[in-house]
Amino acid sequence: MGHEVKGEVTITHKGVRWYETGHPWIYKDDLKTADGPSSGAVVRVKAPDGQLLGQAFYNAASKIALRMLTQDPQEQIDRDFWAGRFEAAVAYRKRIVTDSNACRLVFSEADGFPGLIVDRYADILVFQVLSLGIEQLLPLLVELAVEFTGAKAVLGWNDSPVRKLEGLSAERKLLFGEEPKRVEVTEGKRRYIVDFSRAQKTGAYLDQRENRIHSGSFAKGRVLDVFAYQGGFSLQAAGTAQEVVAIEDSEQALNLLQENAALNGFKNIRAEKANAFDRLREMEKQGEQFDLVILDPPAFAKSKAELQGAKRGYREINLRAMRLLKPEGILITCSCSYNMTEELFLETLRQASVGAGRAVRLLENRTQSKDHPILLTHPESKYLKCLILETI
Ligand code: SAH
Repeated sequence: MGHEVKGEVTITHKGVRWYETGHPWIYKDDLKTADGPSSGAVVRVKAPDGQLLGQAFYNAASKIALRMLTQDPQEQIDRDFWAGRFEAAVAYRKRIVTDSNACRLVFSEADGFPGLIVDRYADILVFQVLSLGIEQLLPLLVELAVEFTGAKAVLGWNDSPVRKLEGLSAERKLLFGEEPKRVEVTEGKRRYIVDFSRAQKTGAYLDQRENRIHSGSFAKGRVLDVFAYQGGFSLQAAGTAQEVVAIEDSEQALNLLQENAALNGFKNIRAEKANAFDRLREMEKQGEQFDLVILDPPAFAKSKAELQGAKRGYREINLRAMRLLKPEGILITCSCSYNMTEELFLETLRQASVGAGRAVRLLENRTQSKDHPILLTHPESKYLKCLILETI
């Protein structure tokens, strides 16, 4: 079982130069000829002089026409090939995830599975399929995932808008086992519930796991957790803080947050249903002060077109947060927008610091957890910024 190579695609000279950077995508505009392959198939990739460059998923419907699988033109893309990649992905997580039983097991191109995300919550897996090539291999990939993890159930959460770009429809369905409702997972010293009937993302924001656990070491006095979701940061802070105020505008998330606080035996987390922008302004007016503020907003810039508005949004919340901090207070500020580069984010924070009238220094410059690996040849795989700042 697996994929036969079904056709050849020749790319342009420009395409070859791009390929030589190591980037795993080749764009539609850089194709010269596509000799008979059907979309979703594995094809051989050729240079204009006939040299074979490797093998890739092909999709005529996508702007990303080729997603490289291997630079070896002869390698068999069969069950063993995919089993090898699963084995490597699982072994990597075993080495680097020591503080939780929930993590991202497969991170698309960065793990050699172009267009596949697999998140693990204890013995439940959640698949997100984002390319046609992967969609066509799904039964095999589910089987291998179960084999390598011993998972009890696999959910297919295939409703990302990105699927449209590949000509795929949106759907959610059970791919293996019995439909799970919820599961309890651990994160550092804390536990939390993942409720699949009301979850955001695939259940949790796994990319922040290391940052959440690390943030606990800064917690004392009064802590403000803004954009709290189900309370990941609040739970890490509550052990050493006197009081944690969590702000979130989703009722469902707040209910989970309360449940998670109780699960960990914390009575010092106060959850507030509010719009973060309004509440931050109000708190500033009321003269509230905190020792630690965490800002973990949703992606304000989902595309380049939204960047201007996004910068204003980031500047606004960071400015307010800086004013809410005591001297030598800590601000943990995040952006998960790929388009908001680290450079732009730092520039936006500089503006916030000037606007707030607060001098601020950078203590740590962090990124996504290591189970969301950053492939040097695939800049799109690095998207999360998590900066730890101190007010002076
Ligand atoms: N810090 C969380 C993840 C936050 S994701 C964690 O580590 O798990 C962003 C959260 O912000 C989502 O839960 C979303 O419901 C909430 N949100 C989005 N816009 C908001 C707004 N304007 N005010 C308050 N919360 C908001």
